[in-house]
Amino acid sequence: MIKESKGKITEEFLALGNSALPSYLLLGKTPVLFDSGMTVMGPLYLQDLKKYLGDPTRLTYLFLTHSHFDHAGSAPFLKRNLPHLQVAAGKAAADIFKRPNAIQLIQSLSRPMEEKFKSQIGEEDVIFRGLDLDRVLEDGEEIELEDGTVIRVITTPGHTRDTVCYYIPKLKALVGGEAVGSFDRRFNVRPVFLSSYDDYLSSLEKLRNLKIELLLLGHHFAITEDAQGMIPKAVEATRAFGKRIEDELNANGGSQEAAVKKIFREDYVEKKLINQEERPFLINLTAQVKAVAERKK
Ligand SMILES: [Zn+2]
Repeated sequence: MIKESKGKITEEFLALGNSALPSYLLLGKTPVLFDSGMTVMGPLYLQDLKKYLGDPTRLTYLFLTHSHFDHAGSAPFLKRNLPHLQVAAGKAAADIFKRPNAIQLIQSLSRPMEEKFKSQIGEEDVIFRGLDLDRVLEDGEEIELEDGTVIRVITTPGHTRDTVCYYIPKLKALVGGEAVGSFDRRFNVRPVFLSSYDDYLSSLEKLRNLKIELLLLGHHFAITEDAQGMIPKAVEATRAFGKRIEDELNANGGSQEAAVKKIFREDYVEKKLINQEERPFLINLTAQVKAVAERKK
C-alpha cells in the first residue's frame, strides 16, 4: 500500500509538515526525526513536534538523508529552537553545509517559498546560514537508542555525494529518501541520480537485500506493503532513464543542452509528469544528463 506522508503512517512513524516535504518522526523513548525540509517548514515541524511529543525538546536526533535545501533547509531553525538537538548526516554533507556557495544556493532556492509564505512565518528567523553537524556518520555505523532500537547508516551516494539511508532492523523500515527515487501514487518511480549514475545504481544494489516492510520516501509517500519490491523497480527505472538520456545524447551529437531541452519538453511541458517547481526540476535534469554524459568518458 502507498500512503500519503502526512500524520500517522504506522504505530511508530509519523510524518510532520506536509506530504511534499515530510519530516519523519520515529516515536519512542528517544524520539528521532529524519530530514527537515525547506526553511519555511521549520515553524510547521516545530508545531507538529509540540502536538505529537508534548515537549518538543524531547527530540534528541535529527538525521538528514542529504544536503539539499528541501531536505535539510530547516535543520538550523530546529537546532536554534531545540538546543539539545543533535543533527547528524553523512561525511560529505558536513563540508557542504559550511561552503559559502552551497549556503548561497540553499538560500536562493529557499527564498521564493519564504516570500510566498511570509505572513505565516511572521517574525520567525528561518534563514539557512550554514549548519554545524553534531555527528558525522559512516557507512554501516549503528546508533542505538535508549530503548534498544538500532538505526543503521547506509551510505548511498548517487543522488548526491552525501546521500545516506537509514535502516531500522527492528521495524524493517528504510528511510530511503531520494536514493530510491521519486514515486507517484501508482508506484511509477523516477530516478534522481544527480551526482553519479553508477554510484546511484550501486547504492540501490546495497539496499536490495534488506528486508523492507516500510519504505519512507523523500517526498509525498510512504510504502507500507511490498516495499522491498520497490528496490528492483527503482533499479529498472534507473537503467531505462539512463538509456533514454544516452539515446538523446547520441541523437544530438552529445549535446547535453539539447538532451535536457527535449526531456524537459516531453516530461514537464507535454506529459506534465513532474510535480515539482520548474527551476529545481531543471537543475536536477541538467545534473542527470551530465551524470550520464560523464559516464561515457
Ligand atoms: Zn535531493
